[in-house]
Amino acid sequence: MSDIQYPINGACQCGKVTYQLLAPPLMIAACHCKQCQKLSTSAFSITAMVNTVDIIFSGEMHEWSRLADNGNTNGAKFCPSCGNRIYHYNPNDPDKIKLKPSTLLDTRVIKPSMHIWTSEKQAWFALPEGIDCFDKQPF
Ligand SMILES: [Zn+2]
Ligand SMILES: [Zn+2]
Repeated sequence: MSDIQYPINGACQCGKVTYQLLAPPLMIAACHCKQCQKLSTSAFSITAMVNTVDIIFSGEMHEWSRLADNGNTNGAKFCPSCGNRIYHYNPNDPDKIKLKPSTLLDTRVIKPSMHIWTSEKQAWFALPEGIDCFDKQPF
């Protein structure tokens, strides 16, 4: 992914929330948990772990949160107009966010570097060879 140029702009579906990603994500995970299936309306969701200082948001976002299985609070920010999920975060770990990176203009970024929660994945999805896979949440 060395030819990907930063910063990269991103936006929700309606365009009222925009952001600029200044540096490459720390890692990209495809999450197969049931919550992510519901969120993505698909078989898995893709999350990019990003240093909070490497991203600049603009536009109003609304918030929702739930308690994750490991006891962490999972805060979620979304566009109040189109409902597009923008990022997740743990209020006890403010230095990093979990960006929903399919909202980036250059979606070559969203190639997963690991698959997680494969214990809940759809049976028809074949995990790729040579990539880290975890039954549950590794971090
Ligand atoms: Zn929107
Ligand atoms: Zn998940």
